[in-house]
Amino acid sequence: MKPQALVPKVVIVGRTNVGKSSLFNKLVEEQKSLVSAIAGTTRDRYEADCIWRGEVIRVIDTGGLDVNYRDLIEKHIAEQARLAIQEADLILFVTDLMAGIQPEDRELAKELQNAKAPVITVANKADNQKLMGKLHEKDWMNWPIGTPRAISAARSLGVGDLLDEIYEKLHELNKPPVEVREVTSLRVSVIGRPNVGKSSLLNSLLGEHRFIEADREHTTREPNDTVITVDGQNYTLVDTAGIRKMARVNAGKSKLEQAGVDRTVRAMKRSDIVLFVIDITQRIRMQDKYLAGKIADAGASCIIIPNKWDLIPDKDSNTINEYEKYLRAHLPMLSYAPIVFVSAKTGQRVQVLFDVIDKVYQSRFTQLEKNECYDFIAQAIVKHKPSRGKGVAHPKITFFRQIGINPPLFKLGIKQRRYDALNPSYLRFLENQLRKHYDFKGTPIRISVTGRTKSHTTTG
Ligand code: GDP
Repeated sequence: MKPQALVPKVVIVGRTNVGKSSLFNKLVEEQKSLVSAIAGTTRDRYEADCIWRGEVIRVIDTGGLDVNYRDLIEKHIAEQARLAIQEADLILFVTDLMAGIQPEDRELAKELQNAKAPVITVANKADNQKLMGKLHEKDWMNWPIGTPRAISAARSLGVGDLLDEIYEKLHELNKPPVEVREVTSLRVSVIGRPNVGKSSLLNSLLGEHRFIEADREHTTREPNDTVITVDGQNYTLVDTAGIRKMARVNAGKSKLEQAGVDRTVRAMKRSDIVLFVIDITQRIRMQDKYLAGKIADAGASCIIIPNKWDLIPDKDSNTINEYEKYLRAHLPMLSYAPIVFVSAKTGQRVQVLFDVIDKVYQSRFTQLEKNECYDFIAQAIVKHKPSRGKGVAHPKITFFRQIGINPPLFKLGIKQRRYDALNPSYLRFLENQLRKHYDFKGTPIRISVTGRTKSHTTTG
């Protein structure tokens, strides 16, 4: 795990009332659920981790200083500047386009000219075109640090572009944002019916990597979890003891089996990624399908792991394809999951799994900006008109945007009253298109459809 200190810091400064906190909240608040879903991310009123396109930065709102120095404006400005100068890798200097440049802005600008971190000046409250035009006025044209960039934090205008600029700049400065997986402990569970080889796979995974951490602040480790470190990345193996125990119990006893299912469902709900183990020497059974359905419902990413590959005789170059076809036909609910054939016994391809896990985890954070969503849906509609569901009206899409990551969640609005005016098959089409154009490897994609009065969220 990278030390947290390497997460680059972006410090928001500006005089009172320019909208520092609104911008901070826009950068962070919308992602509250996402942030809190990630172990190890900090979040308080003034400091929070912001994830954008799968990368993390820390945003610090010096607006918090307003409280202490409300009457001591000069001191306040000096204090903000000091903080920015000391801590920041990048400074966001927020000004107010509506109110125009004030003496305090100039004072702060003067202070910040000594800062070692570069400054991006943000002209906030650019709520409409007319206001944006103000940037061409003399005051703004002659602004001393950084060309002001117009945004509206309140209306979310230009915020995505600003984030892109921040991230680009940090890369340029050689203070790159860190990949989400580097600052989190990724939670993995191993799931499958009895005797498929879960316990054996676990042993094989643990194999050489016995750098097990006793305890670590911020991880959501429970007593039965095991944290291992592989190539600097932490993996929390959820309910390790349960996996071992289940392998020992006699699977014929229904009470124990039920306890096993409950435990399994709980484990998958606590996981980012489920390793779904099946026994490739046997046919897919009801119990496999049942578990596959549960995984899809839980919102976990999934990798299908057909185990005992060493027992398949006379393999040739086509064998894997044939097995893959068979699995796809029988596990349609996990169509998004990559398949990795392994032998827990010989260790074949087991270590490869860590790479696949990393990739799958990263794609849980794939994030489309407003404009990208707009372009995406416009193109999708051209390709395939929204198909009619219940009722007589042809559904009309009013908006489409991403409202969540880890796992990705999209919101689709339709003009009709009820969500089911849109045929569910259209959502599958959209999901396939999203997968085709963006990286959502192994992650379920959810689309919430909102009619004027009723909404509904897809699973899977
Ligand atoms: P669990 O109930 O899913 O945890 O299954 P176990 O890990 O206890 O394995 C069940 C049986 O399958 C044991 O006898 C293992 O030795 C065997 N087994 C597990 N993985 C493999 C494998 O890759 N190849 C072979 N040949 N046997 C395996």
